[in-house]
Amino acid sequence: MLDWYDHHARDLPWRIPPDASQQGVKPDPYRVWLSEVMLQQTTVAAVKSYFERFTRLWPTVTHIAHAEDAAVMAEWAGLGYYARARNLLKCARVVAGDLGGVFPPTAEGLRQLPGIGPYTAAAIAAIAFGAKETVVDGNVERVMARLFDEHTPLPKAKPILTTHAASLTPPERAGDYAQAVMDLGATICTPRSPACGICPWREPCLARQRGTAASLPKKEPKKAKPVRFGYAYVGRRADGAWLLETRPERGLLGGMLGWPGSDWTDEPDPNPPAEANWRVLGTEARHTFTHFHLRLQILTAELPVSASPAVGGFLAAQDFRPSALPTVMRKVFDLASPSFPPIEHAQTRR
Ligand code: SF4
Repeated sequence: MLDWYDHHARDLPWRIPPDASQQGVKPDPYRVWLSEVMLQQTTVAAVKSYFERFTRLWPTVTHIAHAEDAAVMAEWAGLGYYARARNLLKCARVVAGDLGGVFPPTAEGLRQLPGIGPYTAAAIAAIAFGAKETVVDGNVERVMARLFDEHTPLPKAKPILTTHAASLTPPERAGDYAQAVMDLGATICTPRSPACGICPWREPCLARQRGTAASLPKKEPKKAKPVRFGYAYVGRRADGAWLLETRPERGLLGGMLGWPGSDWTDEPDPNPPAEANWRVLGTEARHTFTHFHLRLQILTAELPVSASPAVGGFLAAQDFRPSALPTVMRKVFDLASPSFPPIEHAQTRR
């Protein structure tokens, strides 16, 4: 596996390539930590550009620890699971403030930090510090299920697959090995059509021998997600400023910028943030969160300069970046903004 990795490792912006790794070049724990937090629940393709922008803006953990919360949340917008960004800041401030800017080198030490669970701790310890930790993500689960022809469905199979993965983790180059299995799952042992013919594990692989690879890993059937409804109010003042709120720290999209609105429930009550002639937009915004589908009724209004909203505040057009909105709020803006006539001198940055 390591030999295969030495020749076929993916080129990733947070990774030390295997040849450099073998010559003793050590990964930067800050970059490994940042990439692992970003990769929780998100794909490599989605993370790359965020990672490059974050490391350009904040090249070390001390830089990001001193960043404004709003600036980090705005850069995180679109990556989803916003609690991760809040924990990212908390963690950076503990490492920069209490630990002299140095990440603990063990999984146990890393787990004490905000936002670092068992998986992320194992991944950082292995990849950044070469610790012999077993790292099991979705790719590794799939590879192990096939290699051992394990038919117990996920999530029940998790401990079994972790035991299999642990049995194969070598004492040397544990970080490269963890990344090798992840790469194998991402590029060869893919969900639909594994390329067994070029797989370095084709000889020992039981699923390949028995012809079961494409049906593994087995999964418990997923429960249907409920649908929730809500109202979102997009108000623009006569001078072009937008009425926005910073959402409460706790709860979905906590700390992110958004349009004022109602609760998201089966039967939400309308909750306009200011007196105005709110008009219902013909189309609703739809978005899927982990546990439910959301359908937002959008209302728009032109507000007078004298408007004093009960919720949120006005953000001047030149200070408003739609890219700083989380995805569902961005969808609302993209649907609502064409219904506003252009305002001279009030330009919104993209
Ligand atoms: S032989 Fe096929 S099924 Fe087995 S690990 Fe390799 S790619 Fe996956």
